[in-house]
Amino acid sequence: MSTPLPGRSAPVAARLRGVASSPVREILALTERSGVLSFAGGLPAPELFDREGLADAFAAALHDAHAGRSLQYSTTEGDPALRARVAERLTARGLPTGPEDLLITSGSQQALTLIAAVMLEPGDRVLVEDPSYLAALQAFQLAGAVPVPVPCDGEGLLPDEVERLVAEHRPKLLYTVPTFHNPTARTLGEERRRELAAVIERCDLWTIEDDPYGELRYKGEPSTPIAAIPGAAERTLALSTLSKVAAPGLRIGWVRTPADLRGPLTIAKQAADLHSSTIDQAATARWLAGVDLDAHLARLRHVYGERRDAMVAALPDVLPAGSRFNRPDGGMFVWVRLPDGLDATALLPRALEHEVAYVPGAPFYAATPDPRTLRLSFTTHAPAEIADGLGRLRAAFAGA
Ligand code: PMP
Repeated sequence: MSTPLPGRSAPVAARLRGVASSPVREILALTERSGVLSFAGGLPAPELFDREGLADAFAAALHDAHAGRSLQYSTTEGDPALRARVAERLTARGLPTGPEDLLITSGSQQALTLIAAVMLEPGDRVLVEDPSYLAALQAFQLAGAVPVPVPCDGEGLLPDEVERLVAEHRPKLLYTVPTFHNPTARTLGEERRRELAAVIERCDLWTIEDDPYGELRYKGEPSTPIAAIPGAAERTLALSTLSKVAAPGLRIGWVRTPADLRGPLTIAKQAADLHSSTIDQAATARWLAGVDLDAHLARLRHVYGERRDAMVAALPDVLPAGSRFNRPDGGMFVWVRLPDGLDATALLPRALEHEVAYVPGAPFYAATPDPRTLRLSFTTHAPAEIADGLGRLRAAFAGA
């Protein structure tokens, strides 16, 4: 290993200075100790990956007449067959989309980085939910932008507050996860979506609608995408991913963009990685063509729905008196607020002593954290394990 020269510091750009390593990733490393039953990660359940279907799809992509193509350099916008499949699915979900509207990205995380590179100047403001998805905050900060938290209620963004903060800060962008939000699992109702769309139109506010969890709905009707509401549609970049639906290791996401941003985003993608992995895209296109996606999703919804039920049924006996938590209709998380005076970060070592883990909410806040909050993920454990883990959490919280 090379040792740094004495007195020398490597020339790291100023824009990196304000960007800390994700404390959530550091906490996750702690929670991966063997024996710890973890509700910390936001991972899909590996036993639900369609491994056979994906193996067949990869084999077919490698063996067919175009195999050379699947291993070759390709176009920056993405595999045409994959874009066509994704466009069909979005259209069927109420967001009319053509393949040309889509740029395939290496996970939706890359879409965030590309949008930040294309749209944000150092010092620009970005309105975000309070709290917000941490890696989005990192992407904006890396571009030198400043996240400005918008007050939220149990549904999510308050449109009046968005409008007030637009007047105050003149933000370049609004970033929102309106459906089964990370970390809070909150979902904007239909009326609120229309109010928000009206604010977006009135304020001419460019918006990122990030939707990794919308297909994981266990109850109720699908939500209307903000990108489908006239007035907001022209100003909204819609992001999604196959990470929660197929497998995150594929790193297949996309951004559906208004026409005027297609060219700039494609240039940013060229500079970032030329294109996403050709073989992964080709295999994913084949998987989507062959799988009964509705049946696959029905299975995910059934299993995750049972896990969610197990968690919310047990929580009242687990949490200290005076705690609050939500009962989300989908997604992967339950958001908890402990009573006044308790600090979820300070209590985590005690939980780890009892071999159970969660993620404190504090790192997800762009400005002032609420130390009482924490996020629990229910997706990776069967109901009996959830009961076991929550029993440990009750013991950890007892007397807190
Ligand atoms: N947005 C949100 C809100 C997320 O929760 C995640 C994953 N945790 C992502 C984007 C990124 O997902 P991926 O890059 O795997 O598509």
